[in-house]
Amino acid sequence: MSEEYKLSYFKSFKMFNRAAYALMIVFALLVRGSEITKSNFFMFYYSILFIVMIGLDEYIFKPKRNKFPYLFLGIRVYLYPILLAIGTIFCVLPGVYLVGVISVMLYITCQDLIFTDVFNTFGNYTKRGVIGLVCGSMMLYVQYREEILGVWILVSVFALAVFISMLMFVYYFHYMTVAHLDDRYTKLYFKNADMITENKKLLRFQERVEKVNSEINYQKINLTKANDDLAKINEETRSLIEVMKYFSASFNVENNAHVMLKNVVDIKQTGAVALYLDKDVYMNEEPYLEIISDNAVAETLLKQDIENIYEAIKRRKSVNPLVLCDNYDFKYPYLTGGNLCNVVVFPAYENENVYGVMVVTSSKYDFFENGYAFYESSIMDFTSALISDRLYLQTEDMAKKDGLTKIYNRIYFNQFYPALKDEVEQSGDVFTVCMLDIDHFKRVNDTYGHLAGDEVIKAVAKVDNDFAKKYNGTAVRYGGEEFLLILRGKGVEETLKILQEMHEIIKSNVIEFEDYKIQVNSSMGIACYPETCSDIHDVLDRSDKAMYYSKEHGRGRITIDGREGEEYT
Ligand code: GH3
Ligand code: MG
Ligand code: MG
Repeated sequence: MSEEYKLSYFKSFKMFNRAAYALMIVFALLVRGSEITKSNFFMFYYSILFIVMIGLDEYIFKPKRNKFPYLFLGIRVYLYPILLAIGTIFCVLPGVYLVGVISVMLYITCQDLIFTDVFNTFGNYTKRGVIGLVCGSMMLYVQYREEILGVWILVSVFALAVFISMLMFVYYFHYMTVAHLDDRYTKLYFKNADMITENKKLLRFQERVEKVNSEINYQKINLTKANDDLAKINEETRSLIEVMKYFSASFNVENNAHVMLKNVVDIKQTGAVALYLDKDVYMNEEPYLEIISDNAVAETLLKQDIENIYEAIKRRKSVNPLVLCDNYDFKYPYLTGGNLCNVVVFPAYENENVYGVMVVTSSKYDFFENGYAFYESSIMDFTSALISDRLYLQTEDMAKKDGLTKIYNRIYFNQFYPALKDEVEQSGDVFTVCMLDIDHFKRVNDTYGHLAGDEVIKAVAKVDNDFAKKYNGTAVRYGGEEFLLILRGKGVEETLKILQEMHEIIKSNVIEFEDYKIQVNSSMGIACYPETCSDIHDVLDRSDKAMYYSKEHGRGRITIDGREGEEYT
């Protein structure tokens, strides 16, 4: 029971007690005043006794906070009935006052019974009940000797009987309640113990659930990351497939290179990316370089260093990627100063032979943390496309070009020439056809043998081809030792100068074969559309005729169509 509750009990008892004692004092004065009794001793004894009781109660029922005067409460319940009983020994009480005194005594004893209950001091019931009974009986016995009216004795006996039954009732009720409560308490205790065990289990379970939960959360994060990575890989694979599709439809190596680089930039969001391919990789006479860059400095550095990087990779004799710079840590001197965070070189190789490099740069930290697979796949796809492109180009080249001289053959000319005529007609351009035939070539064969003749044909074809390249024209082996030089956008005079130069070179060229030193001359004819020939379809024939004119008029000379009288060498 809470201390506050006990204090509230104290407070109400004090109030009732004050009223009861005061009533008994008034009652004693009235009894004496009305002369029901003439005993002053009785009046003083009980008046003073009740005043003392008021005073003592004031002290006892005013405990200091949370400190109850158990000793005083015990003394009070023995002292008050004894003092009340002693009074009856010395003075004869009027019957009504006797009932009052007995009632007050029983009241005090009952009050203590309640206290006992309130303060859980069950063991003193009997003692206190006995005190009440002894004192009450003693009072009755003493007063009966003094001849009190029988009716008041009866009332007192009745009051005692009520007290005894109340005592028994309280005892029984209290015992049952406590026993019942005990039983319930035991049950509750075990239930509580069970609940504590259950609670502990629950706590352990909760801990496990929390642990599993955090594990699940961790797995979830991992799964999300794996999912993102998979989505990225998926996207990369899809892009590689698209690029492969493009490769399979195109035989243009440079376009393929561009598509591959663009894909790398788009998918990986790189900084600068460059592809360098050595010459002669796909019948290219010059190295190929393409750079896609968002950074002008990086682009300049790549242009400047990429050839050296390629040479270094070739020397290294390994086809693994080479890290030039790892998170701002430059391991090689290339590309420094471009504020690049990561640079990796991917060799492009075929049968372990490096033929080019792809350089990938980024200004992002940990850019290559997911590895190099995408870049290596890109390069490998490009290489396999390059191999088939090269085969195609070689086949095409073989079909177009003459096996001995490597310049265009008659078959290619037959396709190319009609298209050229259409183009020139439409554009209103000028074009000239020069026919060239080696003079007395049969003699070369006869004198030095056919192999020597072949070398001579190759040498003349080379000159023809050099001039075609130089003047943006086309060189064709038209027959055995007959060649064409077709020039666009050049009139007769300009062509004549070119041809004179060429004629001179052929004539002065010394072809060494075995121990022989062979020199040949040539006859040439020029026809020009529209300058010498207004019908574009006659130009070839007219150049042939002009060449024959040279043959028939001394060989080793140049003849211009329509100006046959003029001789040029
Ligand atoms: P001309 O000055 O009149 O042109 O006399 P030519 O001897 O040069 O002319 P001709 O047409 O009589 O002889 C051409 C020779 O070229 C005949 C042929 O055997 C030879 N010839 C053609 N193609 C080749 C070739 O690929 N290799 C060699 N070695 N000889 C060839
Ligand atoms: Mg000839
Ligand atoms: Mg000939």
